[in-house]
Amino acid sequence: MSTTTPTSLSSFEIRPTATPTSDEDRAAALAAPRFGTVFTDHMARISWSEDQGWHDRRVEAYGPLLLDPATAVLHYAQEIFEGMKAYRHADGSVWTFRPWANAERFARSARRLALPELSEEDFLGSLAALVATDAAWVPSGEETSLYLRPFMYASEAFLGVRPSRAAEYLVIASPVGPYFASGVQPVSIWVAEDYHRAGAGGTGAAKCGGNYAASLLPQQEAYALGYDQVCFLDASTNTLVEELGGMNVFLVHADGSVSTPELSGSILEGVTRSSILQLLRDAGHQVHERPVPLTELRAGLEDGSVAEVFACGTAAVVTPIGRLGGQGFDLTVGDGSAGPVTSSVRSELMDIQYGRVADRHGWLHRLL
Ligand SMILES: *Cc1c(COP(=O)(O)O)cnc(C)c1O
Repeated sequence: MSTTTPTSLSSFEIRPTATPTSDEDRAAALAAPRFGTVFTDHMARISWSEDQGWHDRRVEAYGPLLLDPATAVLHYAQEIFEGMKAYRHADGSVWTFRPWANAERFARSARRLALPELSEEDFLGSLAALVATDAAWVPSGEETSLYLRPFMYASEAFLGVRPSRAAEYLVIASPVGPYFASGVQPVSIWVAEDYHRAGAGGTGAAKCGGNYAASLLPQQEAYALGYDQVCFLDASTNTLVEELGGMNVFLVHADGSVSTPELSGSILEGVTRSSILQLLRDAGHQVHERPVPLTELRAGLEDGSVAEVFACGTAAVVTPIGRLGGQGFDLTVGDGSAGPVTSSVRSELMDIQYGRVADRHGWLHRLL
């Protein structure tokens, strides 16, 4: 469903910061945004307790949280998050992309982490309220956006192991520039065989901080070996390609068909992944969601039947993979540069997000 009128903000109380950033400082921050380093003046917030449910919807000054040292999240990692962007279109309006899917995923993640579910109305309302308050922070340059980070954590001060009886939901926002500052650069990927990010029945399909914590050491080791990022295999058989630490993966075959690992229960269902599946189908590609054995990928890169490999997620949109290595192999993907399907799906998706082409699937939601 696409809407063209901004979401109602009525249920959020706006409590403006006493110390707004000066126009000059904000302009400097927007001129050279670096991912996740600078934040807007406010944050949206809703509190939850077992007794009161969700209450106290507000937008307040961005600032540190005061946490009791016994706060549950610090001990048992009961936490979930989302990642989205607000895009400024040429006419000045501000939009976000398929937020209903993020709201639904956030509720699914909450269920898996035994946190309270937030309604779609509160989720969308919090984004709209924050973006309206900090509208001046939505950049307008080429490929810039305001990154939105909704998250929820167990806030009860209690060391017993059970679901928290209190939680806080917040949204913070950070202006971001083009992910690839000097043009799209293919990345190199190390396939981890000694580590997994998630296992069957675990939390791999939930967007939670714990999955990221598990991916950091393998990431560090891959980096030391000269690779940019890690690709994880399934924990049950250690043979199937799953995904990167924070991005889904696609293979483009020489015959034009496309494969992506099927949702196995331990893979995160990316909104970018599902959008790309649709765009590729629209463009006439045969698209297969199926198990993707590493042996098949390796053989395909060697004999040329796999022509392109790319990763995708909200932050980088589409990232070409130019090199794939692991224990006993080091392969170049195609000629190592971004392939035509990778490049066209990337620009097609961004053209929709930035309002440069028709939103034929009703994916955009107006915030402002
Ligand atoms: C967020 C995330 C993705 C990408 O999801 P998008 O909705 O496309 O941003 C992929 N894998 C993991 C593990 C993630 O956390």
